[in-house]
Amino acid sequence: MKEKDKKTARDQSKASSPASINPRAAENLRRFPKRLPPLADLIAGIRAGNHVILSQAITVVESESPRHQALARELVEACLPYSGSALRIGITGSPGVGKSTFIEALGQHIHELDQQIAVLAIDPSSHLSRGSILGDKTRMETLSNYPGAFIRPSPAGSSLGGVARKTRETILLCEAAGFQNILVETVGVGQSEMAVHSMVDCFLLLLLPGAGDELQGIKRGIVEMADLVIVNKADGNRATLAKEARQQYRNALHLLPPKESGWTPQVMTCSALEKQGIDVIWERIQDFYRSLSDNGYLAEQRRQQARYWLEESINDQLRQHFLKTPGVAEELARREAAVLEGRESPFRAAQALLKLLG
Ligand code: GDP
Repeated sequence: MKEKDKKTARDQSKASSPASINPRAAENLRRFPKRLPPLADLIAGIRAGNHVILSQAITVVESESPRHQALARELVEACLPYSGSALRIGITGSPGVGKSTFIEALGQHIHELDQQIAVLAIDPSSHLSRGSILGDKTRMETLSNYPGAFIRPSPAGSSLGGVARKTRETILLCEAAGFQNILVETVGVGQSEMAVHSMVDCFLLLLLPGAGDELQGIKRGIVEMADLVIVNKADGNRATLAKEARQQYRNALHLLPPKESGWTPQVMTCSALEKQGIDVIWERIQDFYRSLSDNGYLAEQRRQQARYWLEESINDQLRQHFLKTPGVAEELARREAAVLEGRESPFRAAQALLKLLG
């Protein structure tokens, strides 16, 4: 095999991870030619709402290969003018609270309204341990069979920042593909909700009836970020407990300072399993959008998010550039040892290292 072909094969294998758990899409993917379509075809396919091409484009965005990264930049730039029109909704909650059951129920409701939905995930556990807390592959089976639904598991990555960037770019691609609703799911146990919060408009927190925040592993900061707090599993003998929990959360949310958006967070109950209360929650999400569109905060929040991502990208690219600068790796190792042994302060070591940038 020629060196160039070997490189292409390597790039292809890096970009050939399972692209979607939608069984139909997966089937199509298997039939898809090994070689990636040219950029223009990828863009045309995305714009036509072709899920297979969209999956391939997302795989390119997720790939670590330099060749794919260059292609990914072009894809994202090309999709940008067609992005921005979807409702971007984040959802979090501890494992077992019923997120995937809820997304299935909400997805079905959205499907009945003749709208499309893309479900993306940010699961920081998937790179730390081999298993993922969200356990994407076996979830949302009904939803994954709807033609208007697209489910994408969390991208792998060595850092939450990298995973988040890929998910943000995937949102743009899905919007260019015409999805009116994009749900970004994460687990309510770490930093990942901050990342999701920085890329969505409306943030939902799912809770269980009858268990305090601490018991559910929910941090106070997460409750403060929520636009809608949803007490799930309000069925059977938990219905009364759920109503009590709703009242407790209403009282607790009253004590928080008002949101910059002017929106008063709502507390609601539902049973994702019995599909009770889902329509009312969807109505409330529409109220949220109406309210923030009317007062201009929706656009303002997206501008703030864009500024944040610009700063993140600068930090990230500066760091990459620094680490690739000749001599930095060796000098970094030397200075690190000196800092760890207390011979040099971290500040001076950093100053000396940055001088290598010239
Ligand atoms: P996730 O880990 O947050 O995605 O939670 P799942 O959606 O996988 O649900 C965890 C378990 O809770 C499953 O056994 C579901 O059937 C169950 N479950 C989810 N929603 C409800 C609900 O509204 N009521 C009841 N009784 N069980 C539910």
